[in-house]
Amino acid sequence: MAELRLADNQLHGWGPHSPCMRCGAPSTCVVRKTFTQRQMSGRYYRNQLLRQLDFLLMLLTPRRKDVTVPLCDRHKGHWRRYNLLVAGFALSLLVFYAGLVAVLVWKWGSLLEPRNKDAVGYLVLGILVGAVALIVPAAIWVKAPIRAKWIDERGITLTGVADTFPGAVKPGQRTGG
Ligand SMILES: [Zn+2]
Repeated sequence: MAELRLADNQLHGWGPHSPCMRCGAPSTCVVRKTFTQRQMSGRYYRNQLLRQLDFLLMLLTPRRKDVTVPLCDRHKGHWRRYNLLVAGFALSLLVFYAGLVAVLVWKWGSLLEPRNKDAVGYLVLGILVGAVALIVPAAIWVKAPIRAKWIDERGITLTGVADTFPGAVKPGQRTGG
């Protein structure tokens, strides 16, 4: 996946005949998408209070930009798919943990009982196993969608863009001008 820098006057420069921003295949539709990013102003304040205010401002006022994104049929729903997958993984993890607690309580009784050290040990083990068994594959299989990497007054940098998309550069590679 590559990155794409767009100046403010290029945000809506694509029509339905552009390639899909996600895979580079011919696109079939354009989706108007609001990208959000929270970031510090990048200014350094000597004053502690101003620094805290800057931090607060970052949390309260995420930067937003609307971009018209050309996408193919396969990718027009890729943000929703991603959200569903993440929610699905989170839910499976929750169900797994709930089941784990239920089994331990059923076998040993209350986990808050000091005599039930074994059960608490299994609980900790189960939490770790659940995390490794679900979060690791999720991190590998669930590909993050097109998202904002940087937003400022002059434009936006998107990441998760097809390598072949016009203007896209691989991370770390320099733009030709
Ligand atoms: Zn596509």
